[in-house]
Amino acid sequence: MMAAARASGRGKSPNIFMMNTKRKSIAIDMDGVIADTVVQFITWYHKENNVLLTKDDFTGKPESEALPNGAVRKFVLTKGFFRTVPVMYGAREAVLELMKNFDIYIVSAAMEFPQSLPEKFDWLQEHFPFITWNNIIFCGDKSIIGTDYMIDDHLKNLDRCKGKTIMFTAGHNAGIDRHVRANNWQEVISYFNKEVNKE
Ligand SMILES: [Mg+2]
Repeated sequence: MMAAARASGRGKSPNIFMMNTKRKSIAIDMDGVIADTVVQFITWYHKENNVLLTKDDFTGKPESEALPNGAVRKFVLTKGFFRTVPVMYGAREAVLELMKNFDIYIVSAAMEFPQSLPEKFDWLQEHFPFITWNNIIFCGDKSIIGTDYMIDDHLKNLDRCKGKTIMFTAGHNAGIDRHVRANNWQEVISYFNKEVNKE
């Protein structure tokens, strides 16, 4: 009787093999990670001031210092800024690749700029249409996020993350070495290929 019940799958306890194959989750940030906000800052600053900055001008300082006269705050509060940010090089292909082995959540502390919410959602629909609404988290404080991994450029998010952290290189995190660093999306893929092979 017992054997029959087990074979038919009725009345059994959770399957330990299913638990072992549970997919791990990754929280992926938007600005500075899948969205190239620095290129957008450079483009907008050039358009407005006819001064062409480079990515090097952002090294070793907060973005708010890299652009003079409060331009960063002004731009991020301007309609269209987030909607038209270029996609970070390689991000789309890399996220698709990671989705084969991991549950992917796009996590953005977008509440800081409420006007960005519809723009960020529309941007994701355009560039990452394979990410469904269930996997998009617009929030305030990211320390509430409980994913197994977090990919982010900001220390304020990485330092308080309970999972494994991957720091995506940005000018403002230059010289910091307390998180695994990824300089680009190819390096993110290499890191996760190793994580998959560990299991
Ligand atoms: Mg960011």
